[in-house]
Amino acid sequence: MRPVDIIRKKRDGGELSREEIHFIVDGYTRDAIPDYQVSAWLMAVVWRGMSRAELAALTEAMLHSGRVLDLSSFPGMKVDKHSTGGVGDKTSLIIAPVAAAGGLLVPMISGRGLGHTGGTLDKLESIPGFNVNLPKAEFLRVLGACGCALAGQTSEIAPADKKLYALRDVTATVDSPPLICASIMSKKLAEGIDGLVLDVKTGSGAFMKREEDAVALAELMVETGRLMGTRVMALITDMSQPLGRAAGNALEIAECIEVLRGGGPGDLRSLCLELAGWMFCLGRRSADVEEGRQLAAEIIADGRGLEKFRQIIGLQGGDPAVIDDPSRLPQSRRRVDLLSPGEGFLADIACEQIGLAVVMLGGGREKKEDAVDPAVGIVLHKRIGDPVREGEPFCTIHYNSETRLAAARVLLDPAFRVVREASPGAPPLIRKRIGIQPQSRPAAPGGGAADTE
Ligand code: URA
Repeated sequence: MRPVDIIRKKRDGGELSREEIHFIVDGYTRDAIPDYQVSAWLMAVVWRGMSRAELAALTEAMLHSGRVLDLSSFPGMKVDKHSTGGVGDKTSLIIAPVAAAGGLLVPMISGRGLGHTGGTLDKLESIPGFNVNLPKAEFLRVLGACGCALAGQTSEIAPADKKLYALRDVTATVDSPPLICASIMSKKLAEGIDGLVLDVKTGSGAFMKREEDAVALAELMVETGRLMGTRVMALITDMSQPLGRAAGNALEIAECIEVLRGGGPGDLRSLCLELAGWMFCLGRRSADVEEGRQLAAEIIADGRGLEKFRQIIGLQGGDPAVIDDPSRLPQSRRRVDLLSPGEGFLADIACEQIGLAVVMLGGGREKKEDAVDPAVGIVLHKRIGDPVREGEPFCTIHYNSETRLAAARVLLDPAFRVVREASPGAPPLIRKRIGIQPQSRPAAPGGGAADTE
């Protein structure tokens, strides 16, 4: 087989065989096929899509590019959460400690920033000393010690996703449903989990801009999980504006600490309670999502979530003192406000442009080898529907380079649209639920087919 023939076949709309897909994935993982050929193949997939059979073969090839964790010696239910990516989307860092504090085992393998969206690993690395590159044995040690480990794909676990993810980030090949589905499901299934909650974003700051595309992606992932014997449910949630106030690595960690302290922005807090509620439900710690939400709220209110986050940070080599003193996180040297030129109501925010502006400031990558500046980012002061006076700040930009600021401002200056009449506000935060089992207690044998609300 030759990569060039497989690229051509996909480019021309042919259906690839299981062997051809394994050839590309295995060859790339072993460094036997170069970046430029895999980039071309990825672009052909973006344009041509994949059949169900091709998607199953891709997910399988990526899942088995490394080891599947065997967590059978750990007692208790193993449940994880993953998002398709958004701007200011930091819920994993709040709900992983909350779920672990509530008795679930959370073996969370995450990714770095992708396209205009931020990544859990980059956010964690803004905590001085925090190590996300855990070999399997170390990952299991942390998981056993505190019920949660937060790490990236390695040469042992989901290595194909580690390489493909980094390549997609810089070749404009992210927003493809089969590539997103295989990327997420391969690394999540490699964790050996019992249950998975997916947060599928839709709106101007999501990869799936239209709700129907987000629903189709969610159904694809729920079905992939079902075929592999894992309980998966998905929430379709709004990404027409950044989640919470902060977008940028260290700024987002500070906001997570605020939420774990019982404060923080209302939208972020309520989405975290919903996602954690479903994790408790899938992990059989609660009878239903309502009870799960209450459990999550109690764990935040009595400080157990915050203490768990402190413990995870300490076990993964980070500075746990950031919990009490977030000013120990990297801080930008300069800040400037972006002011409203007029009076009225904020009608919409170009959410993808906000994410791209964070990348331009240095908070994400333009090339695979780029280092990320952990301190830069944007803090929003207005949300869709808010009244705005002339000269009031829409947001504060945290930056370290005037050149980068100038590039970011090209995107940010037109990103906030003010109108004279009161606008209807943003769409609801939680739009749909997909793949919920009819009963949330242990499913009856043979029962529990996925359904869509
Ligand atoms: N998150 C992932 O892990 N992979 C994608 O492709 C998109 C979001």
